[in-house]
Order: sequence, then structure tokens, then C-alpha cells
Amino acid sequence: MEREAMMTVIQESGGTDFRLVCDGCGNAVEHLGVNLHNWELAWSFVKRHGWIGDRSRRGPHGCPRCTVRAARTID
Ligand SMILES: [Zn+2]
Repeated sequence: MEREAMMTVIQESGGTDFRLVCDGCGNAVEHLGVNLHNWELAWSFVKRHGWIGDRSRRGPHGCPRCTVRAARTID
């Protein structure tokens, strides 16, 4: 799956499932496709849990851990 390395939403093979991978640390949220069915719903869900980034599937996306670290850097 190296050819899709730029995408932070990884489509699982052979199904509708996908996961979101943090561009900062590689932290992943698994089974978003199974639970939330499409990217728009999945993104609004993870945003409520502290993720930031682009609305598009391509990202970049940052997990809560990385956004805290970025805020400290700016500070
Ligand atoms: Zn991260």
C-alpha cells in the first residue's frame, strides 16, 4: 500500500472499512468505515475527540496527542 502513503485515510482491502492515521505520530483510529460508514461522518466524529486537520480524506490530519504538542510548540 506504499503508493497511497500520502493519504491519511487508509482504505482497508476488500471492504468499506477505513482508518484514519495521524500524520504526526502514526496513531490510528481503526474501523471508522465499519462504525460510521463514510468519511464525512467519521471526520465529524473524530473532530469531537480532538483531531484537527483538513476536511478532505487526504489530510493532513493530527491526533489529539499531536495537537497538544503543537500548541506547546507555539507557546
Ligand atoms: Zn499524532
